[in-house]
Amino acid sequence: MQRILILMSDTGGGHRASAQALKAGFEELYPGRFGVEIIDFIARDLPWPFNQMPNLYPFLSNDVPWLWKWLYGGHSHGFSTRTARLSSRLLRYAACRAIDQHTPDLLLSVHPLMQEVFVQALTRQGRRIPFVTVVTDLSTVHPLWFHPQVDAVYVASCESMAVAQQAGVPAERIHLSGLPIRPAFARPARPKADLRAELGMALGTPAVLVVGGGEGIGPVEEIVEQCASRFSAAGWGQIAVICGRNRALQERLAARRWPVAVHVRGFVENMPDWMAACDCIVTKAGPGTIAEALVCGLPIVLSGFIPGQEEGNVPYVVEQGVGVFERAPAAIAEQLVRWFGPERAELHACAQRARALGHPQATFEIVRSIVHLLAGV
Ligand code: UDP
Repeated sequence: MQRILILMSDTGGGHRASAQALKAGFEELYPGRFGVEIIDFIARDLPWPFNQMPNLYPFLSNDVPWLWKWLYGGHSHGFSTRTARLSSRLLRYAACRAIDQHTPDLLLSVHPLMQEVFVQALTRQGRRIPFVTVVTDLSTVHPLWFHPQVDAVYVASCESMAVAQQAGVPAERIHLSGLPIRPAFARPARPKADLRAELGMALGTPAVLVVGGGEGIGPVEEIVEQCASRFSAAGWGQIAVICGRNRALQERLAARRWPVAVHVRGFVENMPDWMAACDCIVTKAGPGTIAEALVCGLPIVLSGFIPGQEEGNVPYVVEQGVGVFERAPAAIAEQLVRWFGPERAELHACAQRARALGHPQATFEIVRSIVHLLAGV
């Protein structure tokens, strides 16, 4: 059995979700042939204070976005790039230790901070094993995702491809695939009626799914308030809110009395079911959620974005005609009332464009390509 080590960190839900999607893809396509392990390298292997990054990320990206924007992109990414390179030199011993512990036949990174430190570790150890990067950002990508010594890079957009080339990755090693999403999204969804019955939702009234990424960030509560009040005035509508790991939000929403049906959940494992059961989605511009919503044919209202890595996803959604960008909760509710009312035809057209833009097979395509690369070593 060949061993694959997936390197990620829980800075946002997307990296873990992509890692799990790829692991599931290997298991589904090649059962029993690969042993795939996923590690949160930052939280598990790095010393304090570096290992605190996953804990700090929700605070930085949600409460002090200006600071996050500066850390991410300050001086045209020069600050973050220099800091990461310097830290990699300090921390490569931890990467060497992880490699010694897991003795992988292939390293697969789904995080922008893994390339430099693991390339340095492999060089130091004099090892030659294939190292591939699967980019989990959609449109705006940080140059740190790309290292010229990596054997293959999988990107989800032409914009990312250009950044990879600028970073010195040879063109033949860059593959334009979609974002790796869980194989469950590649299977045809069950009928909406069955899903709604199972999830406790009403069948005869439109439903919006409200999410805030893996951490449940952004003005989710205000959006639910505005939608509930506008739906109640219209006499129809229901809301499913997935709070992710934000327990405080989940408890607050669950404790309130609402004028329409509001289905509140914490971190759910069955996101494909929730998406297939609803008629559109309100989300921050998280790449994972956008890619999944496209595959499910869900029109998208983007309610905000994390400065830096999510900024480019806004024009991506709006220009492709698969959604709109509205920050104000009241304006979001108005948009939904139009979509579920007089602009129903536009909602359907949006849904069709979304389905056409989605890449349900991306995970399988990436996995097949990696296995091909491994076979050629
Ligand atoms: N997600 C999930 N269950 C939840 C909340 C989120 O499986 O309860 C998944 C979601 O389907 C997506 C990922 O977490 O795959 C969120 O990624 P995204 O890029 O949208 O945002 P991030 O959390 O990384 O900022």
